[in-house]
Amino acid sequence: MLEELSLYGKVYENYDLVNNNTYRVNSICKYFILPSSISDLQNLMKYLKEKKQKYFIIGNGSNVILDSDLEEYIVISLSQLNAIEVHKEYNMIYAESGAILPKIATISIENSLTGLEFAIGIPGTLGGSIYGNAGAYNCQLLDYVSSVTILDENFELVTIDHEEITYGYRTSLFKEKKNCIIVSAKLFLKEGNKEESLKVINDRKERRISTQPLEYPSAGSVFRNPVGDAAGRLIEICGLKGYSIGGAEISNKHANFIINKGNATSEDVIELINLVHDTVLEKTGVDLIKEQEYIK
Ligand SMILES: Cc1cc2nc3c(=O)[nH]c(=O)nc-3n(C[C@H](O)[C@H](O)[C@H](O)COP(=O)(O)OP(=O)(O)OC[C@H]3O[C@@H](n4cnc5c(N)ncnc54)[C@H](O)[C@@H]3O)c2cc1C
Repeated sequence: MLEELSLYGKVYENYDLVNNNTYRVNSICKYFILPSSISDLQNLMKYLKEKKQKYFIIGNGSNVILDSDLEEYIVISLSQLNAIEVHKEYNMIYAESGAILPKIATISIENSLTGLEFAIGIPGTLGGSIYGNAGAYNCQLLDYVSSVTILDENFELVTIDHEEITYGYRTSLFKEKKNCIIVSAKLFLKEGNKEESLKVINDRKERRISTQPLEYPSAGSVFRNPVGDAAGRLIEICGLKGYSIGGAEISNKHANFIINKGNATSEDVIELINLVHDTVLEKTGVDLIKEQEYIK
């Protein structure tokens, strides 16, 4: 299979995804492959379907908990599909799904385009961030997306316009389209002022540094905020800050973050998430919903 897969991009066998997930947990997959073009990706997907092979698309791995054993999986990274084009005359940016969101935000600001300032601290790829409709400070990515091109279940490239994309808090149409892969998108922004945008992002960077445990590996907020409340507040009033299982710990700085103190496994993280969920339910009656996805 190694030889056949190598027709579609760079491929690694029995690969540890430790540097491909922001929890920095060890996770061994059967093959890790990086298609170098959209047509390579198309052909790879056809091949995997023929072989009935289990696969998983990884973005920057910043919203997933990867099981230590993914040996049944071929993990596909679109990090080589990372083109970013600025079309200033239309206040538009076109980017491929492997492009990193803060990089797109930085390039937009450098070109005096405003809208993506909220995204500067979200360490995902464009594809992963569209999939989960990433957001912050009451802004959400899909408000700025005018169209998304996907590879559909028949391996055809299909462009979906904004009007047809349903989305909400940390969710989108693409979560329902399980076998579709986001390939690229167009972002519609507004003409802005570079200095003002830089001030906004610097304020936000400082706010994140003071409120989030960015010095440790994590995958951001573990749970969605329930309507009218904050998951972090509920976890904190249950007295769980600083609680740990193995190398995974509930951050003392932000209770909705689980951090890897050095040698955490995904099993430690999952056990701790379950404990938080059950404790919060028992003590406050709130049934917290996970924001992060467990891949196993
Ligand atoms: C320090 C820190 C701060 C964070 N702050 C925020 C925040 O403020 N707001 C926020 O919303 N999130 C935040 N996050 C979480 C995370 O960065 C976002 O959810 C991000 O959008 C995930 O993108 P990703 O590329 O890492 O996706 P991954 O974690 O790699 O994947 C997530 C899901 O998307 C799917 N996927 C990825 N790429 C594609 C594709 N091309 N086509 C189809 N499916 C795809 C994957 O299969 C998976 O199901 C934070 C994370 C960290 C570590």
